[in-house]
Amino acid sequence: MTTDQSLVLRTYADAARTAHATLTALDQLSGDGDFGDNLREGLDRVTAALDAHPDRPPYAVAASVFLDEVGGTSGPLIGLLFQELARAHEAHSDERDAWRAGTGEGLAAIQRVGEAEPGDRTMVDALVPARDALEAGSGPREVALAALEGAHATAALRARRGRASYVGQRAVGFPDPGALGVALLFWSRARARK
Ligand code: ADP
Ligand code: MG
Ligand code: MG
Repeated sequence: MTTDQSLVLRTYADAARTAHATLTALDQLSGDGDFGDNLREGLDRVTAALDAHPDRPPYAVAASVFLDEVGGTSGPLIGLLFQELARAHEAHSDERDAWRAGTGEGLAAIQRVGEAEPGDRTMVDALVPARDALEAGSGPREVALAALEGAHATAALRARRGRASYVGQRAVGFPDPGALGVALLFWSRARARK
């Protein structure tokens, strides 16, 4: 079984469009309301760049778009994840190995830059269970479920990082938008397999 990188990214762009209103509402509760826009517009730019440069490695294309063009705290952090996924897909011919290495290195890079720990109510809370499931050898569906469960579990957490940390209890009961947005990448990988 193979996973076409550009199909994963196009599936992710569709998912971000579908989830846009939810992600916006969640970031309005806990932040400044732009996360839905940042993710949807970033991924629309990625699909346009893939159309323009079909020969470039897709995750590397996504990395440069998110690192250079997408705003918010999330843009560059998601860019780091794509950068490590791109590197890992160069280094590993087996795609499970590539996702295991890329997610692990991407999480490490995000934590080096953003300094968030598990339980701080950020995208790290989706990435840690995804990384753990990949390390345990789980397949794409189980990894996606782990990421989504991690994202949903942020509903019980009070933010200690990012803008959401300023608003205290207001967002408790609702999941962190960034965690949900990143979980959709793993969901897209599982959907795009053929
Ligand atoms: P901004 O708060 O600058 O508007 P976005 O709305 O684009 O940024 O992204 C918000 C998301 O970024 C949050 O939901 C959270 O998941 C994530 N985030 C914020 N700070 C950090 C951090 N230090 N480390 C990891 N993720 C973070
Ligand atoms: Mg925001
Ligand atoms: Mg913002």
